[in-house]
Amino acid sequence: RTASQTSESTSTDSDRTPVRVDSQDSQVSDSETITDGHRWPRQNSLSMREWDIPWDELKMHEIIGTGRFGIVYRGQWHGDVAVKVLNVSYQNDKEILEQFKNEVSTFRKTRHENLILFMGACMQPPKLAIVTSLSKGMTLYTHIHLRKDKFNMNKTTNVAQQISQGMGYLHAKGIIHKDLKSKNIFVENGKVVITDFGLFSVTKLCFGNRKCDSLGIPPGWLCYLAPEVMRSLHAHQPHEVELPFSKASDVYAFGTVWYELLCGEWPFKGQPPEAVIWQVGKGMKQPLANLQASRDVKDILMLCWSYRPGDRPDFIRLLNILDKLPKKRLARSPSHPIHLSKSAES
Ligand code: ADP
Ligand code: MG
Repeated sequence: RTASQTSESTSTDSDRTPVRVDSQDSQVSDSETITDGHRWPRQNSLSMREWDIPWDELKMHEIIGTGRFGIVYRGQWHGDVAVKVLNVSYQNDKEILEQFKNEVSTFRKTRHENLILFMGACMQPPKLAIVTSLSKGMTLYTHIHLRKDKFNMNKTTNVAQQISQGMGYLHAKGIIHKDLKSKNIFVENGKVVITDFGLFSVTKLCFGNRKCDSLGIPPGWLCYLAPEVMRSLHAHQPHEVELPFSKASDVYAFGTVWYELLCGEWPFKGQPPEAVIWQVGKGMKQPLANLQASRDVKDILMLCWSYRPGDRPDFIRLLNILDKLPKKRLARSPSHPIHLSKSAES
């Protein structure tokens, strides 16, 4: 490895301490200023600049939705794109820019067909935005919880394999997703695309935007949290602590997505957050007695939801297990690829 490669991989680790940008001017509109005031090697700063999309080049159309970060727009930049505009408080521009750049550097080194295509970012505070390809499909959340689409076992396995492939790639690159959930998984013509990996620290800065419950927890989030993450929530508001996310906590979240695919609902459905935090923190799991599935299928849940992070499989092992699940023979020729049925197709 060359020196520049080493520093590149260090500086793109999502968990490291933020890089300082010693620019005097917090309105860093001039990329030279960023480069000059930067502690990163020159080569890295240059490659960073390649991803900087000037705000004026972006055409913004309608709002697609709002989330933890702020508002997501359909936009135009050399074609259709999704623009995630971060709704941050502008009091601490330097800190925000540093964190944002860290997360962008995580994003830009991903190239996998099951991961959303990162196209660039606006890095001129207070204008911070992430530009990705626009997914024309629907999220797994929409399929499962809104449309109540049923996925048969072959489709369920196929979707899970694609998620595992994307996640295995992220983990191999040293990236922890930190927010794997059915809302961050798109399905487009049977192809799975994962979004929002490694962006969690920036979302912390935006927490104020979001409707939260009495514990300061955004809705629909708890059931993806591993026991060790859950326990660190206990005493604090989620945005006040560095939560102990890890590859193993991503696997726990995958377990929850597997459960959603199988059952069409979330674990601990209808229970108050305090009860979920207490149970999961103590190592209790959603009972599976009513789940009509084979032993192998339930075993995957139990493995992913293991109390101790070290007992959870990695995505390579999960792919192995998923691959060995018995496949129902389709009426078509066995060599025909498995696709989502019409009902679950976008
Ligand atoms: P969340 O993941 O909690 O739903 P987000 O801020 O990530 O919040 O997304 C808000 C909305 O924008 C969601 O409805 C999501 O489906 C949509 N969205 C996000 N990214 C894209 C994308 N790349 N293509 C199409 N829609 C997107
Ligand atoms: Mg999202």
